Amino acid sequence: MPQDYYETLGVDRGADEAEIKKAFRRLARELHPDVNKDDPEAEEKFKAAAEAYEVLSDPERRRTYDAFGHEGLRSGGFHSQAAGAGGFQDIFDAIFGGGGAGSPFEDLFGGGGGRSGPAPGGDIGVRVGIDLADVLEGTTEEVAFRAVVRCEHCRGNGAEPGTPIHTCETCGGQGQVRQATRTPFGQMVRAAPCPTCNGAGKIPETPCEVCGGDGSVAERKTYDVDIPAGIENGQRIRISGAGHAGDPGAPAGDLYVQVEVAEDERFHREGSDLLTVLDVPATVAMLGATVQVETLTGERDVEVEAGTQHGDSVRLKGEGLPSLHGGRGSKRGDLHVAIKVVTPVKLNDEQRELAERLDATLEERNVPGARDGFFGRFRKAFK
Ligand SMILES: [Zn+2]
Ligand SMILES: [Zn+2]
Repeated sequence: MPQDYYETLGVDRGADEAEIKKAFRRLARELHPDVNKDDPEAEEKFKAAAEAYEVLSDPERRRTYDAFGHEGLRSGGFHSQAAGAGGFQDIFDAIFGGGGAGSPFEDLFGGGGGRSGPAPGGDIGVRVGIDLADVLEGTTEEVAFRAVVRCEHCRGNGAEPGTPIHTCETCGGQGQVRQATRTPFGQMVRAAPCPTCNGAGKIPETPCEVCGGDGSVAERKTYDVDIPAGIENGQRIRISGAGHAGDPGAPAGDLYVQVEVAEDERFHREGSDLLTVLDVPATVAMLGATVQVETLTGERDVEVEAGTQHGDSVRLKGEGLPSLHGGRGSKRGDLHVAIKVVTPVKLNDEQRELAERLDATLEERNVPGARDGFFGRFRKAFK
């Protein structure tokens, strides 16, 4: 019976990258060979966790696994670096700094010899939908997301309250170990984050029972996001420090809120200008009249001049949207009203007679310039 990767790591199927990483990190620490010398099952458990992490930390392979399970991974050419034929030590090398280029484990513990010390928290991306009318004044929207936050039970230090924290014996409290690697050019020695304490230099004697010693937990968070007036569809708002919590002593990641402005069937947006279409009976277009048009903030009068052509437009100044940089209360764009002349479809006898009499009096059937602009800027609006 093949393992369920999510069960192995103890995360739910919607878990994001940071949660998966966190779950694996905890397991790797629990199953560390220094701690489990006498437990023959630790190695198997560790291999299983490493295999699960290798798949779930790769977005493409995770999608394949979600859709087709283990079969999908096999047919796609499953080649495990960590969980394959290699022994326990090979796996640990792969994870704790000895891994080859492109290994998913490389950045897990700051491996590869680059960064050391506590890792900053990851960023979180969320989407929020607003209406076009919200763009006018700006709005505040609550977004909900799962985030790694500091564990309040242990206040982030990973120790069960009231229990001692010891200096890490592996690194002597330095948080770093010197690691020798054989290369074609001889032996290279470099500093790498300590695998036992993950660079913290300290190890709790009794790990916190809420977070397992990690100092952080994943939980549902909400945030009230201020969305400025004039925002465009697809723009992102960055909220510094509202992302995943980092390791103790490291900064939190950021929250990125992507704003999606819903399509409004009445208005088409062009920057801070709006376009709308107004149906006008043919007789009104011929004779002229004052008619009502809907704007974002209610109905307004529009003067339709006598002799108005299909596709003519009327501009209502200041009935568009503010610009993002002008902010709330800034000068607004315009509302362009495209006139759509509507011809009556059914005529009764009296109407037909009137129309025939009018037609007989008209000498000019093609008004010069009547098509000007017809295929121009309002073409979209006539779809
Ligand atoms: Zn805790
Ligand atoms: Zn250490």
